[in-house]
Amino acid sequence: MALSVKRSVRPPLAVWLLGGLLLTGCVGQPTTRTAGLYVFGTLVEVTLIGANEAAVQATLDRVDALFQAMHRDWHPWKPGRLTTLNGQLSSGAWSLVDPDLLGLIEVSSTVARASGHRFNPAIGRLVALWGFHGDELPVGEAPDASLIADLVSANPRMTDLEFRDGAVRSRNPALQLDFGGIAKGYALDLARQRLRSDEVSGALLNAGGDLCVLGRGPQGPWRVGIRDPFDKSSVRVVIALPQDLCAMTSGNYERYRQGEGIRWGHLLNPESGYPVTQVASVTVIHPDGAWADAAATALAVAGGQWRDVAAVMGLDRVMVVSEGGATEMTAGFRALLIEPR
Ligand code: ADP
Ligand code: MG
Repeated sequence: MALSVKRSVRPPLAVWLLGGLLLTGCVGQPTTRTAGLYVFGTLVEVTLIGANEAAVQATLDRVDALFQAMHRDWHPWKPGRLTTLNGQLSSGAWSLVDPDLLGLIEVSSTVARASGHRFNPAIGRLVALWGFHGDELPVGEAPDASLIADLVSANPRMTDLEFRDGAVRSRNPALQLDFGGIAKGYALDLARQRLRSDEVSGALLNAGGDLCVLGRGPQGPWRVGIRDPFDKSSVRVVIALPQDLCAMTSGNYERYRQGEGIRWGHLLNPESGYPVTQVASVTVIHPDGAWADAAATALAVAGGQWRDVAAVMGLDRVMVVSEGGATEMTAGFRALLIEPR
């Protein structure tokens, strides 16, 4: 999912905790609680199974605080740590970055290289040129072709970054970081790390269809539906997600630029500078949420070559829905299907 910010007002945590009344354990039984937390403008539904009510509530509060810090610090266009860092990167200066953000930059660099730079979070300027740095969806024809060509030929890549003692700088002034294609996965990874150290035996973190599980669900493996890219209200497949895996989906259907008779999706091919057209959605299942999130973007860019890129990236559980509506999947993904078979 993109780092899109559609709602600027966040309901207080207490409002969403009403959902927690849905499933509460009996005395002596584990407690199951569901709460809605906001991060990156998306409602993240957090279901926790824990030893007791107090422990589960304390964990929810900690995860909520973590998500709010990420929202503030990594926002791609609202003033915060990332916009400050981007300003410094374009000047070539060294910038000190905090460990969580440094971790995000490092994992992003690794996926970028592994994907042959199809996942390229250094193309923030291109994302902005297409109008995707705003709360509202952009409208209108494609940007001027010469502006797109200039940004493509500047060729910003994560390999332009240099690291030293917790600081980073860019050799390429055109590089601007945009973590829209990976931040949600990384946020869910950090949340799961924190949950592991708490008294939580199972968790499902669902950020608008991008989700990670920890442990098992109340009745065995977590069952999750993967949304149909052509019909928001229905699911394309239902899978049983084994312990500690993430299922991340990138699609062209939620954020797009509406031109006359053409809808430009927000997944950009860094080589052409234009949006991906062959693929409607890609779902990647992997233990690492950040890797799965970014890989889904990379495979969407790979289009018809997605199987080759998935093999290079070590991905064996992938589903791709093409713009024409066909569903393709790897054998590893098929093995998780509950319906349809
Ligand atoms: P979705 O929102 O459908 O899950 P993604 O997780 O792939 O999709 O995130 C898309 C966002 O990633 C875009 O809005 C943009 O900020 C950024 N982006 C677009 N193209 C690329 C790319 N090739 N590499 C890295 N990030 C990208
Ligand atoms: Mg993604």
